[in-house]
Amino acid sequence: MNIAIIGSGLTGSLAAISLANAGCRVDLYERLSDEELIDRDRTYAITHSSRKILERIGVWSHLVSNLVPFQYLNVIDYELNKKFQFLINDLSLSDQKYCAVGWIAEHKKIMFSILKFISDIDHINKIPTSVIPNTNNYELIIAADGSGSATKKKLKTPSFNFNYDQMCITAKVLLRGAKSNEAFEILNSQGPFAVLPLGGDLFQIICSQSLENATNKMNLSKSLFLDYLATLLPYGVQPDTIIDKPNSFPINFVFNYSFYSGKYIYLGETAHKFHPVGGQGLNLCWRDVDCLTKLISVPIFKKNHRIIPFLYSLSRLVDVLLISIFTDSLVRYSRSNISIFKLPRTFVFFVLKKYGFIRKFILNIMTNGL
Ligand SMILES: Cc1cc2nc3c(=O)[nH]c(=O)nc-3n(C[C@H](O)[C@H](O)[C@H](O)COP(=O)(O)OP(=O)(O)OC[C@H]3O[C@@H](n4cnc5c(N)ncnc54)[C@H](O)[C@@H]3O)c2cc1C
Repeated sequence: MNIAIIGSGLTGSLAAISLANAGCRVDLYERLSDEELIDRDRTYAITHSSRKILERIGVWSHLVSNLVPFQYLNVIDYELNKKFQFLINDLSLSDQKYCAVGWIAEHKKIMFSILKFISDIDHINKIPTSVIPNTNNYELIIAADGSGSATKKKLKTPSFNFNYDQMCITAKVLLRGAKSNEAFEILNSQGPFAVLPLGGDLFQIICSQSLENATNKMNLSKSLFLDYLATLLPYGVQPDTIIDKPNSFPINFVFNYSFYSGKYIYLGETAHKFHPVGGQGLNLCWRDVDCLTKLISVPIFKKNHRIIPFLYSLSRLVDVLLISIFTDSLVRYSRSNISIFKLPRTFVFFVLKKYGFIRKFILNIMTNGL
């Protein structure tokens, strides 16, 4: 089968590898050079669903040395002054043997490894252009050109979208008092705040703030920004030094009403974009890739490829919808500091702390999807 993929970000690149493995001939269209693709300052949480996909297509062993595993995920509610932990024991038995609740990946390292992997595959033809390909040459065209997708605009595919009145601030910081194998998800009234281990004392801070607050914080000097971080970090954890300048980006929500249009299939952020708080974004994009690969690998669908876009769209609906609701609820939960919500919040924390089977259920959905 001849397939065009528009966009060679982490979704498009993984789709190229996965579909080439499934026997397709892939033309991979990208407007940026490899250096530009690599040079992004982002950090991702990698779940067990991504680990399984990467293992199936033979990429995991090339990436794992670049990933930082964590064994503790501390969830802290500042308004309630309560905390519980997700531990390795909360994973399913088959996931427990990897000795990690999840992994943290720096964009530069994984993009570099994935592009290197692509360069060794004969079935993938990289085409450096921003021109949308001629549809007649391909059985399927995959749009993985990101949230501002020109393909989606050209095809006038409608989506449900809104802007959060929040910005995300990211920074790399040296911390004292945090273990190198623990991550934090902190719920406070400004918005959720994640602290992700990058090895040794180095941590990535991902902090959502109101637009006004974020603008103020971005204008602070490094030392005042550190003072501000000290007020946000959990008790006993102190910021030492900021590495690089903090970055910020606006947060919006996008959900396509359909994940296909004719022979075009929308993958990754072209189809859905959520708040980064749940650490689900990239994992969900890669589950799109996995779902499409499984459909394309079925011999009867290979012969009747016209049905694949519809089946793909249908198959992805539940996972994407539920994860979008989960992520959005987490943001609203974090910011709902009015006293009427105090009782349900206390109940949620009590249940998650006390009942292991509920923690297992939640962690399993967060790490393996639906
Ligand atoms: C500023 C910013 C910071 C982020 N930080 C984080 C973070 O810290 N943690 C996290 O989990 N997630 C983060 N995200 C989200 C994360 O980057 C996405 O989930 C992930 O990159 C999705 O990958 P993608 O391949 O679907 O889209 P993209 O990474 O956007 O890739 C799309 C690709 O398509 C190419 N393209 C576009 N149009 C064309 C065209 N016409 N022809 C050819 N190529 C084209 C683009 O050049 C790009 O390479 C961030 C997003 C942004 C915008």
